[in-house]
Amino acid sequence: MTSSGHERDELDDDTSPAPAADPGDDGIRRFATIWSRAVYPATQTSMTRAELEDYLYPLARLLGEALHARPFTPAPGWGVGRALVDAHCTSPDVLPPALGVVESYLVLYGSPPGSLPVDEARSRCARLQHAIAAGFARALRERTLAEQEALSRAALAAQTAVEEALHASETRFRAVFKDATIGIGIADMNGRLRDANGALARMFGRSEEEMRRRNLNDWVHPDDAPGVWRLHHELARGERDHFRVEKPYQRPDGTVLWTNLTVSLLRDADGEPCYQLALMEDITERRLLHLRLRYEATHDELTGLPNRTLFAERLDRILAAGSSVKRFGLCYLDIDGFKAVNDSLGHAVGDQLLVSVAERLQSCCPAPSHLVARIGGDEFVVLISDPEGREEVTSLARAALAALATPISVDGRKLSVRASIGIVEGPTQGDLGPAEVLRSADITMYRAKDAGGNRYELADPDSDARAIDRHSLTNHLPAALERDEFFLEYQPLIRMSDGHVDGAEALVRWAHPVHGRLGPDRFIPLAEHTGLIVPLGRWVLEQAVRQACDWAVGRTLRVNVNLSPRQLHHPDLVPDTIAVLESAGVEPSSLCLEVTESALIGADADELKPLWQLAEMGVDIALDDFGTGYSNLANLRKLPATTLKLDRSFTQGLQRHPADPVDVTFVEGIVSLAHALGLAVTVEGVETEHQADQLRDLGCDTAQGWYYARPAPAAEFGRDWGCPSP
Ligand code: C2E
Ligand code: MG
Ligand code: MG
Repeated sequence: MTSSGHERDELDDDTSPAPAADPGDDGIRRFATIWSRAVYPATQTSMTRAELEDYLYPLARLLGEALHARPFTPAPGWGVGRALVDAHCTSPDVLPPALGVVESYLVLYGSPPGSLPVDEARSRCARLQHAIAAGFARALRERTLAEQEALSRAALAAQTAVEEALHASETRFRAVFKDATIGIGIADMNGRLRDANGALARMFGRSEEEMRRRNLNDWVHPDDAPGVWRLHHELARGERDHFRVEKPYQRPDGTVLWTNLTVSLLRDADGEPCYQLALMEDITERRLLHLRLRYEATHDELTGLPNRTLFAERLDRILAAGSSVKRFGLCYLDIDGFKAVNDSLGHAVGDQLLVSVAERLQSCCPAPSHLVARIGGDEFVVLISDPEGREEVTSLARAALAALATPISVDGRKLSVRASIGIVEGPTQGDLGPAEVLRSADITMYRAKDAGGNRYELADPDSDARAIDRHSLTNHLPAALERDEFFLEYQPLIRMSDGHVDGAEALVRWAHPVHGRLGPDRFIPLAEHTGLIVPLGRWVLEQAVRQACDWAVGRTLRVNVNLSPRQLHHPDLVPDTIAVLESAGVEPSSLCLEVTESALIGADADELKPLWQLAEMGVDIALDDFGTGYSNLANLRKLPATTLKLDRSFTQGLQRHPADPVDVTFVEGIVSLAHALGLAVTVEGVETEHQADQLRDLGCDTAQGWYYARPAPAAEFGRDWGCPSP
């Protein structure tokens, strides 16, 4: 249809010759062509011009037939007008050209010449035009009406849908609001509660009606989290859209309701804040459970006191940067001899004792700034926030010791408790972190224990450093022995009668990989404490005896080896010593064992037996540092000693001008007493010729000291004293 239309379009134009005598179908086609050209520009149809022509062709034919119909009726004109509207030729601009073409060409092309009188044809044509116009107008009105109606129906339908949706969502909201287990409240921007659901009312123990009379701003609680009201005011000012907090509320019955509260801001269509929506979840039970679990995790089951965890938290908080606490005091208390109570009286008694100790400590610390905690078996602490000064802390320690001293009745027994307390007091923003504070308190407590217990000591950085040093050295001692980090130096013992060397004292040193050379005072007590002194002492003995053997070529040179108390009481002392002497091939008389006086105090006959055995074999026994201990002269005869080594302090007394007469008398007395008992006397620490002369005059047999030589390595010693190794 389209292609044929196009072909015609190209062939036909307005200037083509008039139709032949019988316009017939060609005439109608021609009319349709002209008609479509005239109408097309004014239409809003989606048809092409050729398609419009095809559409108009049957209408043209209808008009042509109507023109000749007998009887004549203009009615088909109506249908044509209506058809134009149906073809979307709805613009009012369509009608004039459409009617114009009918006026000008219908008679020409639609009726064979002579078939109608001209006037009749014109009249009929005019009536057909009226009918077309009327049909067109009617159809247009009907169409407009129909469109309006469709629109309004659609609008109505849309409105109904919106209302239904709104209604549905309102219903849903109401249902949620009413039946929710979570408490829901809606308040205006002044905080007045406009609506509250049943759950909320039940949580508060009030009716919904009562709830509606409340204002959110009245619900301030002393346990409110800091900042919760700031958040609320920000929301009320429209500066934030929601916040979430845990918040307590007071119920009318006096109990506290804990909630997980979420408040959201509701804005109107213009974005202005209009309501606040509060959602509350009752977490009271959960919180109680949490509190109970937290209490159990932070308290000691036996005494009910805060435990180490809680104490550590508090200490951390106090010492944290920005803490409001300026100073702190810590008493670290450990019961003296508690193990003995447990071991001898049983754990039940031990437990009761601990409970009583806890009560007494608490009675000394009623202030809220004091935290009493049990942090270990028999270890308690009192942590004081912002003490008045050091005096407050020390007086608390005194009070605690006094409170414990009053006997405690346990199981019909009266037990008096002694304790050692280490005190650390200082600024919270100082150099010490929580771990350092605890360590310092612990070290200081042990200092109090070492000093006899039942006392307190104050921490001081020097003792702490020494203790930390001791700790680290102690840990490294075993490896040091394995790695051969120890070495010996020898100091000559000089015969005073002729100034010849009589022997050498072996003195151990530690070539520490980090701290360098360490003297025996730094590590012998630690080795003694840990028991490492036994293998270390044996190593010294072996080295010294072998050295004596080397030096002994052609002469007799005695070597002095120091024995510590622990070695003395070791069951292998005698067999070990014999084995060492035998393997080196050295006479027992070439060895002198130095034992301090204090190591022998209180030793009974059994304990002295090994020394006696060694002495009987020919080993010399010297009493080292004589005069520094109890110097029980009467006891001397019971000891297997062959030599007294007078402590350096007497030698120092002789250095003064004039010499201290007491020291002179003492040395004189000792020397004569020793000689009377058959003991030789060696003096230590001779640093000057003056001292040497005096001591010789006082009858001392041998001397040792820097005046003659400082301790030196074996090679140096051998070179200086004419006893080189082979
Ligand atoms: P000690 O047995 O009384 O040793 C003498 C100490 O006096 C040595 O100190 C020595 O260097 C020092 N001395 C010697 N002459 C003078 C002097 O004229 N002036 C001064 N001011 N001091 C002098 P050292 O070597 O530091 O030894 C200290 C202590 O360590 C020894 O005292 C001894 O008790 C212990 N010791 C040393 N080696 C051993 C060992 O192998 N085993 C055991 N158990 N203890 C040892
Ligand atoms: Mg010695
Ligand atoms: Mg000595």
